[in-house]
Amino acid sequence: MICFEEVSKVFPGGTGEAAIADLTLRIEPGEMVFILGQSGAGKSTLLKLITLEQRPTRGRVTVGPFDSETITRRGIPHLRRHCGVVFQDFRLIKDKTIFENVAYCLRMTGTLEKLLITRAVSRVLHRVGIYGKRDRFPHELSGGEQQRAAIGRALIHQPPVLLADEPTGNLDAETGRDVLEVLAQLHLSGTTILVATHDEELARRYATRTLTLRNGRVVEDLFLRPHGTEVF
Ligand code: ADP
Repeated sequence: MICFEEVSKVFPGGTGEAAIADLTLRIEPGEMVFILGQSGAGKSTLLKLITLEQRPTRGRVTVGPFDSETITRRGIPHLRRHCGVVFQDFRLIKDKTIFENVAYCLRMTGTLEKLLITRAVSRVLHRVGIYGKRDRFPHELSGGEQQRAAIGRALIHQPPVLLADEPTGNLDAETGRDVLEVLAQLHLSGTTILVATHDEELARRYATRTLTLRNGRVVEDLFLRPHGTEVF
């Protein structure tokens, strides 16, 4: 469960206007929520408040067992493993193969045994459908394949929550739908998914719920279908 209680975020040195303004919100496990809104509405900031990449100026964010008011420095890496993140620009390491890009995340968090790494990386690459491309470098993959690799990397710690910030922003419409199909499959297997996008068409197709932001406030909160329902 993700909970925002009267959360505001004001960036220091900015205009003084809140990027997120007095937001109270509850997202249940298994939802697939699309956060909609124009550029500057506060979508990315909302996602960054979940991973505590940005701290709330006021209010409290709780994500499962993690609480913005009580979390310690040592708790932050645990929170980040609880929430996989996918970005518009994929953020793959250019001079590492797809396999190594994903394996790197495991090594960084202390998994060093080769067999364990091979198993875990193979599992996620199969899951996102690019196991056959594991020895290629990012520039040898299409945009859609690179985004699949990035999703695979985000899944390596088996997070219950996946956050995607404009995941189709660099892709054509058809490839974008392909990537959303991967997220929809993850959703059906129980992952809670939040997608920030300005693409309302994608949201209508895949969301169980849409939240529309304007000037950091929720102006519409629509439940479209029960969670766990097959998307056609
Ligand atoms: P969106 O993702 O909907 O485009 P953002 O969350 O990126 O919107 O931004 C919301 C508001 O917060 C905008 O006015 C933006 O300029 C401001 N903002 C975002 N990040 C920062 C930052 N690091 N420093 C100052 N202002 C920021």
